[in-house]
Amino acid sequence: MLSGSESNTDDQYVRFVNVKKSYDQQTLVVKDFNLNARKGEFVTLLGPSGSGKTTCLMMLAGFEDVTSGSILIDGQPVTNIAPYHRNIGMVFQHYALFPHMTIGENLAYPLKVRKIPADEVKRRVKESLALVELADFSKRYPGQLSGGQKQRVALARSLIFEPSIVLMDEPLGALDKNLREQMQFEIKRLHEDLGFTAIYVTHDQTEALTMSDRIAVFNDGIVEQCAAPETLYEQPANSFVANFIGENNCIPGTVTKVENGKAEIQLADGSMVTTSNPNCPPSGDPCMMTIRPENLFIANGQSLANSIDADFTTRLYVGDSIRYFFKMPCGSELMVKTLNDNQAPVLQHGARTQLTWDVTGGLALDRQA
Ligand code: ADP
Ligand code: MG
Repeated sequence: MLSGSESNTDDQYVRFVNVKKSYDQQTLVVKDFNLNARKGEFVTLLGPSGSGKTTCLMMLAGFEDVTSGSILIDGQPVTNIAPYHRNIGMVFQHYALFPHMTIGENLAYPLKVRKIPADEVKRRVKESLALVELADFSKRYPGQLSGGQKQRVALARSLIFEPSIVLMDEPLGALDKNLREQMQFEIKRLHEDLGFTAIYVTHDQTEALTMSDRIAVFNDGIVEQCAAPETLYEQPANSFVANFIGENNCIPGTVTKVENGKAEIQLADGSMVTTSNPNCPPSGDPCMMTIRPENLFIANGQSLANSIDADFTTRLYVGDSIRYFFKMPCGSELMVKTLNDNQAPVLQHGARTQLTWDVTGGLALDRQA
């Protein structure tokens, strides 16, 4: 059991408190970033390009100043601690291995600058090559390795001095899909085995969902929501999060009534629908009705609580599933995802079709960019 004070710093091992950043003294590229990462937690910063993710990592690593606010590691403000003394490992998209050094020398480098004795360096290099399953690669040069192997070396090098925190900035961005998925498992395994606190940056939502304990969803310098993957998918705070995490159908509307935990929405085409979403905006406000494609059905004679009409446009065969695309008279495009079984209907192009979903199948959310 941890004592009260220990558990407190462990719960808030890495802290960003009201952090703002401007590079030009004018525009804030990070507007007010707050985060508490637990010791050993895997936290991902997810968001579009330019939303401020790398800037946050660089401030934590000590390569960029904080314009205002503070960053703490294990309860200590880091402002006056040099990057090298923060005990942080880093992995970047483009490996950053020294091309003129062998793999063994690349791995030894962070230990040598830390004045670790030679025999200890030798032992740790061997161990860490084994850890990333490259035991026989010590004498090779980076140019003789594949992209995936180079990234494993970069990973081993970031871990070799046993940092308590590891920052990873789109580390798998240069790899193709299969290799990327394999490396996701490797990183998760290393994280579980070694117990470091991971702050991971990606713009790939699937990667974020599969790897993270928690995800902070960035949008233009602010965090729209920070929560576990399940919460982001099932209870998104607003329509930006709902669209960024997973696929979604969006129909603009207005909230007309909120009562007994249910809300009535008038959609842009005039139809009235009901939702039981706790994050619904108040009555009178504009909203975005969002429905996951797996929660929207072609009525086929039976309808659920909510129905609308739309015209069939195309059908996409995806192997295990089929996607049907529709257009509402108000212009919104909709997608229905069904299993590829013998129930999957055949529709004529342009056919007016009733689509239906349950009260719990759709969310009325704040409209965001
Ligand atoms: P992300 O990692 O989410 O793509 P960044 O943190 O790299 O976003 O960038 C956020 C914003 O800050 C962008 O508009 C980018 O152009 C700007 N920016 C990033 N680094 C610098 C820099 N060194 N000098 C000036 N502007 C920068
Ligand atoms: Mg970046």
